[in-house]
Amino acid sequence: MKSYRKELWFETKKRREFINITGEVERALKESGIKEGFVLVNAMHITASVFINDDESGLHQDFEEWLEGLAPEKPYSRYKHNGFEDNADAHLKRTIMGREVVVAVTNGKLDFGPWEQIFYGEFDGKRRKRVLIKIIGE
Ligand code: ZN
Repeated sequence: MKSYRKELWFETKKRREFINITGEVERALKESGIKEGFVLVNAMHITASVFINDDESGLHQDFEEWLEGLAPEKPYSRYKHNGFEDNADAHLKRTIMGREVVVAVTNGKLDFGPWEQIFYGEFDGKRRKRVLIKIIGE
């Protein structure tokens, strides 16, 4: 069995952003040389997500509004976590959107269903953060 590890780094300009990282994951898969196996992609921070969904801007706005409805950023004072920080909403948003995804690798390709794309979801950005890609197989 082979394994391959890679980190992707991000520093978003905005507090919240969705970034399509499918191409980066495909590049890592190519570098690994693995043809059959699994790719794990996970956020390495507890205020960011990795998730799979459609790359459609209306849907991304819907996610933003839905998440703001569930866990609004402000007022910061509404959250007990916000004693030394202001990112309680980001922890909650990350929990809903998930920590990681696993994708099957078949014939050297990500074995997606229709319209599936991998996203990095940033909820407390403007600083350097990273995503782990781990690929195992042969
Ligand atoms: Zn925090």
